[in-house]
Amino acid sequence: MIEIIDKGKCCGCHGCTNICPKSCISMETDQEGFWYPKVDKNLCIDCHLCEKVCPILEVPQKKEVFNLLTYACKNKNNEVRKESSSGGVFSLLCEYVINHEGVVFGASYNAQFEVRHTYVETLGECSQFRSSKYVQSKIGETYKQVRTFLNQGRLVMFSGTPCQIEGLSGYLSKEYPNLIRVDIACHGVPSPMVYKRYLNDLENEYQSKLKSLSFRNKDTGWSSYSFKAEFENGRVKQELGSNNIYMKGFIKDIYLRPSCFECEFKKPHTTADITLGDYWGVSGIHPEFTDEKGISLIFVHSQKGKDIFDKISTNLQVLESDFDYATKCNPSIVRHAPIQPKRQQFFDLLEQGVGLQEAIEKCIKPTLLQRVKGKGYGALIKGKRLVKKVVYK
Ligand SMILES: Cc1cc2nc3c(=O)[nH]c(=O)nc-3n(C[C@H](O)[C@H](O)[C@H](O)COP(=O)(O)OP(=O)(O)OC[C@H]3O[C@@H](n4cnc5c(N)ncnc54)[C@H](O)[C@@H]3O)c2cc1C
Repeated sequence: MIEIIDKGKCCGCHGCTNICPKSCISMETDQEGFWYPKVDKNLCIDCHLCEKVCPILEVPQKKEVFNLLTYACKNKNNEVRKESSSGGVFSLLCEYVINHEGVVFGASYNAQFEVRHTYVETLGECSQFRSSKYVQSKIGETYKQVRTFLNQGRLVMFSGTPCQIEGLSGYLSKEYPNLIRVDIACHGVPSPMVYKRYLNDLENEYQSKLKSLSFRNKDTGWSSYSFKAEFENGRVKQELGSNNIYMKGFIKDIYLRPSCFECEFKKPHTTADITLGDYWGVSGIHPEFTDEKGISLIFVHSQKGKDIFDKISTNLQVLESDFDYATKCNPSIVRHAPIQPKRQQFFDLLEQGVGLQEAIEKCIKPTLLQRVKGKGYGALIKGKRLVKKVVYK
């Protein structure tokens, strides 16, 4: 029976709750706001299926040998590209699947702006998945729904973080030709509790209910994207992502899930067919391709992924690119976040009743040692320059 002793070893994928034949596993929220499985021991029949599907205990293996392909891409439709986080490739994949009477799964907001996985069957509904929501999305019962659609012979595309894709692969435990798995490059997932507190604080500040929310608004460009929240009373909060307090705490890894610091799913050979990301640093390798509407970085991991990518390519501008260069510019794709020394302090401050903004500000400040090191490093560089000047005079 699954028992979480080390929180770093549970990614919250819900594979165990989906597989349990007795429905005796529930996902319970801890004080940091992350979900973990809890087994009702009175109902458990010791079938061990929950352990067998866990992508951390039994890492799903990819059988196909395929030479990974790397591309820089832009959706030719600039309207769709503007609404998407990166180059809008996800929307073209949706279009392909829906046009083949398929079903698309992804992360969207519900009426309370909670982020959870759901599915759509029409093109009009696909836009709810568009754009990154920087919080862990709740999988709920979607793995079961995927299996039902697959067994009906429908084409299914499931998109999510690498751990959600590996969770699905573990749950299904066999290959389905009618399943397309799409993962996103993932920095890590923030706590749903912190996210909820941030939105509550915003609603209090703006004295109105939230009407729309975007973490990746492109009014200020793609590389300098903004955070934008619109309220029912007509007021709007918009600022550069780099100035937004929630985004600052996220980027500094203050409230990522513990498993994100040990993530094993950041590897070129995942069970996903396609990986979607931002092509940060694209101007350094494809300057002629660069613009501020958003460029996608795409990895194709399987023949199935290649087939669908070729089919959507007519609506894309595509360049073949270089894996090593791309991952050097976007290390989150291959490396998990480093342990954040102030993470515990952050959650302690919240528990002591310190406000969210104050707690984030306190914990993203560089430590004295980091500042001294920074200054020391600066002085070292200055010193070296001086030495060079003296030597080469
Ligand atoms: C938490 C998080 C961290 C990320 N970190 C990085 C990173 O470090 N480097 C990088 O290059 N890209 C990262 N991305 C991915 C990137 O922001 C884009 O989502 C991706 O490039 C797809 O862009 P697009 O233009 O093709 O389509 P879009 O329309 O923007 O794609 C949206 C896709 O993202 C999925 N999605 C949105 N929010 C979530 C969520 N909370 N959980 C699971 N799936 C979600 C949707 O289901 C859909 O598949 C991250 C995304 C998220 C959600």
